[in-house]
Amino acid sequence: MMFAAVTTLKSRKKSDLLVVPFWKGKKHAEAAVDIISLKQHLDSPLATNDFYGKEGEVLILYVSGEPEKRIALLGLGSHESITVEKLRRAYAAITKNCIHKKITEINVMLPESSALAKEDLIRGLAEGLLLPNYVFTTLKHDSIKESPPVLLQKATFVGGSKQDVALADKYATICHAVDLARDLVNGNADDITPQYLAAVAQGLAKTCKDVKTTVFDKKRIEKEKMGLLLAVNRGSFRDPAFIITEYKGNPKSSDHTVIVGKGITFDTGGLNLKPTGSMETMKCDMAGAAVALAVIQAAASLELKINVTAVIPSTENSIGSQSYKPGDVYVSYAGTTVENGNTDAEGRLVLADALAYTVKNLKPSRIIDLATLTGAIEVALGNEATGLFSNNDVLADLLIRFGCETHERVWRMPLYEEYKDQLKSDVADIKSTGGRPAGSITAAHFLQEFVEKTPWAHLDIAGTAFLSDGKRYLPKHATGVGVRLLISLLENL
Ligand SMILES: [Zn+2]
Repeated sequence: MMFAAVTTLKSRKKSDLLVVPFWKGKKHAEAAVDIISLKQHLDSPLATNDFYGKEGEVLILYVSGEPEKRIALLGLGSHESITVEKLRRAYAAITKNCIHKKITEINVMLPESSALAKEDLIRGLAEGLLLPNYVFTTLKHDSIKESPPVLLQKATFVGGSKQDVALADKYATICHAVDLARDLVNGNADDITPQYLAAVAQGLAKTCKDVKTTVFDKKRIEKEKMGLLLAVNRGSFRDPAFIITEYKGNPKSSDHTVIVGKGITFDTGGLNLKPTGSMETMKCDMAGAAVALAVIQAAASLELKINVTAVIPSTENSIGSQSYKPGDVYVSYAGTTVENGNTDAEGRLVLADALAYTVKNLKPSRIIDLATLTGAIEVALGNEATGLFSNNDVLADLLIRFGCETHERVWRMPLYEEYKDQLKSDVADIKSTGGRPAGSITAAHFLQEFVEKTPWAHLDIAGTAFLSDGKRYLPKHATGVGVRLLISLLENL
């Protein structure tokens, strides 16, 4: 989406819709901006009291004699309690209306608020317009021919400045990366394979400045002795891929963040096969990988002065006569022997090799891994918060802070030593699973075994990466959660 600005209502150009913001008042909606010149259109609808200014409430008027055919009265809720998140939710209602009506260009009167800084106001407004401006129609053929989807293309701020546009453009770049993550997750598992993810990573290296991609094929993965990634891959006819995509925005600095993303492009559960009802959405099991690639795209597009690398262990977890087995012991990249507790706990295995490789070879200042790792985290936190596990309070506090700012909230879970007892094995150095109790915690403990002393955070996005129903500004299915959080963190390191 493009942003532009004009200083006054008089200087605005033709568009499809004018957005006029209102606060929710005690008795009536109260204009959040000077509306004297629009009085003739607004007086009588406002007098009916059909519109209260509640958060996200929209009343569309059809008018003549203005540069727009329509005026949308938009409710922002009460002025005293306005927040960036409330603005996101309110302005999302405008985008949803625009997609529904195939409106492509809007003029947006900027609300005047003493309660929020201008930057926060632009952020909430821009993200609210951008985040729901997404449809995934690649796999729909007939209905799309009849009625192709139309997204919002341009928003002009009335009463805005060049700085406002620059700031909104920044959020547009970040949301563009969010959409990349969503597309990768929503795509057919038969299309979005380990080799496809590798091609996307190689594409980033071609199109983005200061980005370099290295892909290990199966031969190289065997040479590196990534025994856990190879074990998970055994049931699949597709080869695994190990993807390393680096963005060096500050080559003089040794500070280096590594984002490890789980890249299971389809998860059948393996020999511990998932039941019907649990497998149908498993194309989303590479959401961590999608976010890691999207973060590189956003960081490079914004030319952030940071160094960040995405590391992606990728394979299908399929089922066949070659499948790896529950109860057998496999040797990890780190040399640790692992008793395989359950072939559906494959995510922690491929991540273990990726984490160990990162620690040994990439000189990370910190590692953040993202993974749709456990059903247990969804039981604990539902779809409203991502599970956070960390061996480092500073890193954890930063993730919590930027989780609040972006509303991609994270909730820190304990990593008490005692939980580790559940991972004791009679036959190997460690067991990959610890039974039902504290399932997401024992999974995190297993990962922690492979990060040594490196500051590390694990984000379990199993409850937040993929929604069966859209909500607020989040579309149905892939959300792209984690991209905005990590970019905010990286910007502020
Ligand atoms: Zn699994």
